[in-house]
Amino acid sequence: MCGIVGFTGRQSAAPVLLDGLKKLEYRGYDSAGIAVMDNGTISVNKVRGRIASLCEKTGDGASVPGFTGIGHTRWATHGAPTEENAHPHLSNDGRFAVVHNGIIENYIVLREELIRDGYRFQSETDTEVIVHLIEMYYAGNVRDALIKTANRLRGSYALGVICSEEPGKIYAVREASPLILGIGMDENFFASDVTALVNHTRNVVYLEDGEFAELSGNDIRIFDCSGREISKKVSRITWDVQAAEKGGYDHFMLKEIMEQPAAVRATVAPRIKDGKVDFEELAGLVPELPDVSKIVITACGSAYYAGCAGKYALERLCRIPVETQLASELRYSDPLIDSRTLLIVISQSGETADTIAALRECRARGAKTLAVVNVVGSSVASLADYTVYTRAGPEIAVATTKGYTTQIAVLYMLAVFFAERLGRLDDAPELVEELQALPRRIQQAIDMNPSVPALARKYHESRALFFIGRNTDYAVALEGALKMKEISYIHAEAYAAGELKHGTIALIEEHCPVIALCCNPSVMEKTLSNIVEVKSRGAEVLALPFRDNRRILSAADDLLFIPDADALFSPVIEIVPLQLLAYYVAKANGCDIDKPKNLAKSVTVE
Ligand code: GLU
Repeated sequence: MCGIVGFTGRQSAAPVLLDGLKKLEYRGYDSAGIAVMDNGTISVNKVRGRIASLCEKTGDGASVPGFTGIGHTRWATHGAPTEENAHPHLSNDGRFAVVHNGIIENYIVLREELIRDGYRFQSETDTEVIVHLIEMYYAGNVRDALIKTANRLRGSYALGVICSEEPGKIYAVREASPLILGIGMDENFFASDVTALVNHTRNVVYLEDGEFAELSGNDIRIFDCSGREISKKVSRITWDVQAAEKGGYDHFMLKEIMEQPAAVRATVAPRIKDGKVDFEELAGLVPELPDVSKIVITACGSAYYAGCAGKYALERLCRIPVETQLASELRYSDPLIDSRTLLIVISQSGETADTIAALRECRARGAKTLAVVNVVGSSVASLADYTVYTRAGPEIAVATTKGYTTQIAVLYMLAVFFAERLGRLDDAPELVEELQALPRRIQQAIDMNPSVPALARKYHESRALFFIGRNTDYAVALEGALKMKEISYIHAEAYAAGELKHGTIALIEEHCPVIALCCNPSVMEKTLSNIVEVKSRGAEVLALPFRDNRRILSAADDLLFIPDADALFSPVIEIVPLQLLAYYVAKANGCDIDKPKNLAKSVTVE
């Protein structure tokens, strides 16, 4: 999920690798390392923390001789962000070094097998199985060993490999994680992101899934997964570096919105085994579940709204009362929490001060604690009894998108998992299918709504917007309004649709935009009445129904469509067009979208 670079040529490799890694820093990372080959030996330098420390450790690369090497910035998914877990990883015989982006889903089985065969592990990472497999399969030909290794791996991986028996060669393998070859003059490169290449060359080859490459200073050979040599087109990069970092998107936020299908897939897929949801990390919690009398979800900002969306699924499926509480309120509320409470804390960064304090407060009162966190090894993860990681990858835009949707995906999976383990679930296979379909449906929600930029141009000068919905749709309204406020600075208010008439309906006047979420069939008729109510006061209604909901289609002024889905899980899909709407409204207003004023990505103060 983070960064890879590889170099072979006639100049010293370490400075080139360090320079490439610096270009990848914007992606966020927790540790870094390089492996360089010289006179038949591989030397590895790694640090926890910044690349600046790696530069210091190696005298900007000057203390590391050799013309061939690989480098990595790690964004931990398996194992804490420590120096031991940083890449590159070495084989036991010291002949191979490997860097890896992505996740090896079947690493536990492979690790057990390799340990039985006598291989010693130095790290907690999923990655390390790869280098031992390569050593195991190596019989004089690196290419063969890579094919055999790749055949054993499940999950996503971009790999960079060097072998001390093959001076001057670097190997790249790609499966569901980006990898690009850079073609220079008497030198060649690879990287997970073109940003690391553009200082050296603009001629690149994009590897595709199942392909691998063997590079030396003056040759590039590419093979398919069966080892057959193939030829590929050389493309020319015309972007500037800034644009390349954002993958061609204008902003990180848009890039991250578009990454949601992949992020939700990376979060859901490894947890589904034999048609069931399975969280190995929660094995210890399962026997305690029958004793849980209530679940309290606590978080801040969008993570809190993810909790609001997840509450419906948890209550509906587990039949356990669920409360959602803002962390900053919970900590000072003398909460009614005891050993029969399961506290779920949610935080993208895992460093949110209010959330940490609420977690400490509830632990002290005896609650069982479960963290849903994106950043491995963060404070929240280390304080909680159990941690489930979302696998959103680094999120750079301050306003969360893929962080939020992966949190909801985890809550849905927890709902199915708990209900199943409690023996309270009859329709498990259908629900598991729904979970597996989420990435596809999120993609459809993006594809079905090309009108968002035009709608944004219609609404961007509004002084205030209302977001209404009931039940699960109300949870989406809360996050939709927050997204709009955070990045466009337009006042937006989320209201439970049935509550308007008890409060703010006087504010609905001629041309006031009302965004109506209406996917939940159990309350759709009621929301429709609320749409009619606001329209009769002059509101312009932008509705978000399931695609074939004729009644809503004819009642609304404008539409954004949601692909059909089980209403229990649809919030994670419904939010996507609203993220896009907020993005394009903010863009039309010339706002600093990735760094909205007065907000920080990780709020470490109370
Ligand atoms: N899963 C690997 C690890 O945790 C690679 C993470 C990355 O892509 O940076 O070490």
